[in-house]
Amino acid sequence: MVQEQPRPSRSRDLFDRACKTIPSGVNSPVRYFEPHPVFITRSQGAYIWDVDGNRLTDLCCGYGALLLGHRRQEIISAVSEQLLRGTLYCSPTSEETDLAELITGNFPSMDKVRLVNTGSEATMTAIRLARGFTKRRKIIKFEGGYHGAHDSVLVSAGSGQAHHGISTSEGGLEEVSQNTLVARYNDPSGLEETIRQDGDVAGVIIEPVMANMGLILPQDGFLQQVRRITQKNDIPLIFDEVVTGFRVSPGGAQQHYGVKPDITTLAKALGGGFAIAAVGGRREIMDNLTPGGRVYQASTFAGNPVAVSAAISSVRTINRIKDQIYPHLELQCAGLSRAVADLASDMGIDAQINHLSSMMQIFFTSEPVTDYDSAKRSDAARFGRLFAELLKNGVFVAPSQFEVVFLSSAHSGEDLDHVLDAYRLALGAIRD
Ligand SMILES: *Cc1c(COP(=O)(O)O)cnc(C)c1O
Repeated sequence: MVQEQPRPSRSRDLFDRACKTIPSGVNSPVRYFEPHPVFITRSQGAYIWDVDGNRLTDLCCGYGALLLGHRRQEIISAVSEQLLRGTLYCSPTSEETDLAELITGNFPSMDKVRLVNTGSEATMTAIRLARGFTKRRKIIKFEGGYHGAHDSVLVSAGSGQAHHGISTSEGGLEEVSQNTLVARYNDPSGLEETIRQDGDVAGVIIEPVMANMGLILPQDGFLQQVRRITQKNDIPLIFDEVVTGFRVSPGGAQQHYGVKPDITTLAKALGGGFAIAAVGGRREIMDNLTPGGRVYQASTFAGNPVAVSAAISSVRTINRIKDQIYPHLELQCAGLSRAVADLASDMGIDAQINHLSSMMQIFFTSEPVTDYDSAKRSDAARFGRLFAELLKNGVFVAPSQFEVVFLSSAHSGEDLDHVLDAYRLALGAIRD
C-alpha cells in the first residue's frame, strides 16, 4: 500500500512552535488531535479558514456557542459600538439589567440571574448556592455529564459498591470528589436510590440533554421524574443548560421538555461567540449571594460591557428570528441525521445517530445509546478516523466522540449537501 506523505503544513509548524510555550500546544485539551490541530486565521458564517488556506465548514460552532454562525452581523455591530464606549467599568451598567431581563424573560424559572464569564464559573456558583441554601454537603451528578473544569464536578463514578465519586483529574482532592455522588442518566430509580442512601444531598446537577458524551436524549418522562424526585426530597435541581440554553429552544431544554429547575446555568450560545455565562434561579435561592446573602461569588470581568453587548444582541436576534431558525434547524439536522444513518446502513457500518434540534452525533455501535455505558461502547478509534476523513473533505466537527455536531443558522442547504458528501466519502473510507 502506498503510504500517504504528510503534506507540508503551516499548522504543523505553528503547532511545533506553540508546544514550546503552551502545554501540549493548546489552551483547552479537546482542541488537540493527532497528528496536530489545524490553526485558524478567520471565520465567517458557516466557515473557518485555516492557516494553509483551506476553507472548512464548521460543525463545531464553538461547541455550540455559535448558534447564529460566525460573526453574525447584529452581534459584531453591537460589540463594535460598545468598543467605542469602553471595555470595562467595574461599576454597574443599565445593559446588565437589560440582559438579566432578557434572560429571565426567556427562562421563567429564573427570578434572578448573575452574569459570570464561563460555564465553569456558572456551575461552580450554582453548586455553592445549592449548598449555602440547603446547608447540606453532597451533590449528585450524572455519569458522563460535564459541568466544567472544577473539582466538585470533575468526578466520575467509583468502582463497585462505592457510590462516592472519584476525581477524574490528578490534583483533584478526594475530600472534594467524595462529596459528589454519581447517578446514571435515564435511570430515575437509580437517582432515587442514591438520594435514599445519603441524607445530605444539597443539589442535583444535570445536563437535561447530555451533550458531553456524544449526544444523549432524555427518555420519555425522565426529566419529569428527576424533577418529581428532587422536589419530593426538597433538593434543589440544577439544570446545566450551558449547551442547551438557547440551542434546543429560546428557553432551553426546560422549555422544550416543560420541566422547571430551581437553578439554571447558561453560557455557550448566550454570548454568540463572546465569553459570558449566567447563573439564575428562584429568588429565595439567588438572594443568598453576597453581598445581600452569605454565598460568595465575584469576578472582575463579570457583566463586562463588551460581553454583555454581545449577549444582548445575541438573545434579541434569537428572539426576533426564533420562528424561522428553530424549525429550520430541526428540519436540517433531522434530514442530515437520517441521511448519515442511511449511508452507514447502506455501507454495512453499525452506527447509531442521536439528534435533537440543531445537535447530532454518530456512535459506532449496534445498540441504542442512552447513557454513559452505552456511549462508551462506541468505537472511538473509528470515530477518530471519521473525524480525520471529514477534515480532509473540508468539514470540521469536534475532534472527540464525546462531543456533538452543531449546526448554525448560517449553514445553508448547499453547505449541508457538502457536509453530506463529506460524510459519504468519510464513511466510505472507514468502512473496514
Ligand atoms: C462547556 C460546558 C461547561 C463549561 O463551560 P466553560 O465555558 O467551558 O467553562 C459546563 N457545562 C456544560 C454542559 C458544558 O457543555
